[in-house]
Amino acid sequence: MWREPMWYCKQTMKVIPLGTSSGKPTVKRSVSALAVAREAEWLLFDCGEGAQVQIARAGLSPSRLSAIFITHLHGDHFNGLPGLLSTMGLDRRTRDLKLTGPPGIRDYLDVLERLRVMFVNYSVVVRELSSLPDSKVVHETAEYTVTAMALDHRLFAIGYRLDELPRPGRFNVERARELGVPEGKLWGRLQAGEEVRLPDGKVVRSSDVLGPARPGKSVSYCLDTRPCAMTVELARNVDLLIHEATYTDEFAAEAQQYGHSTAAQAARTARDAGARRLLITHFSTRFPDAAPLLDEARAIFPNTVLAEDLVEIEV
Ligand SMILES: [Zn+2]
Ligand SMILES: [Zn+2]
Repeated sequence: MWREPMWYCKQTMKVIPLGTSSGKPTVKRSVSALAVAREAEWLLFDCGEGAQVQIARAGLSPSRLSAIFITHLHGDHFNGLPGLLSTMGLDRRTRDLKLTGPPGIRDYLDVLERLRVMFVNYSVVVRELSSLPDSKVVHETAEYTVTAMALDHRLFAIGYRLDELPRPGRFNVERARELGVPEGKLWGRLQAGEEVRLPDGKVVRSSDVLGPARPGKSVSYCLDTRPCAMTVELARNVDLLIHEATYTDEFAAEAQQYGHSTAAQAARTARDAGARRLLITHFSTRFPDAAPLLDEARAIFPNTVLAEDLVEIEV
């Protein structure tokens, strides 16, 4: 029996925070790492220490990991790389792995390999982004693009945004039958946007059986950063903005000094950008209970969610 392919009938994009603590892990929160899972693959944004354990707990298969995006070279955002990359070597990964990050990331991996700290027998395709005056597409597939932009932190830090391309409209099975299109190859061609000629000479157009195109989903990842124009641009009309909220406003001076944001500032960014939903993360260990951060953000942007390790969010 003919079936709509998975991607066709149902959109599945999930965000899984793997670590939500800033600076160092706590017993409840691991350090920064976040998975964006689509149907057959997933992407990793930041890879703090212990990420591979969290990946296992989340039930994500490293063999389905397509690309890693590192925001900046503070240890809590990339110290998990040697372990994760080595494990994939042990698992006999053969697929290339794309790795995008700031300058220095290639040297870091080269040194680990040279010192024989890390064993990688597959190809890691490293792309260093040295300056990003404007947003730039850094990763592209037939289904989505990932754009990068420099943020405002203590050192060069990159924000990312993933945009799915619009998906074709829903295929109307009853209509196709009414029009006398035989099930099989012709259905596939209509679905692909072509027009087909039936055995009796009648022409059926794709628009006769396909509904309107459906917009793809989008996610922005802004860690670590002070509030700035770039985060607003990166989060413009996004479905889910993932933004750091290291402190409450009470510590705004500290946030400014160390290149971070308060929960209120993250919320204002979401509001100003017209984001649909905000996920706050990267909490200072000063907040073993993160409820005050959530309250502060929701007062400005009600559609805010607090990231918890391994609690997934459907986009
Ligand atoms: Zn950090
Ligand atoms: Zn940092």
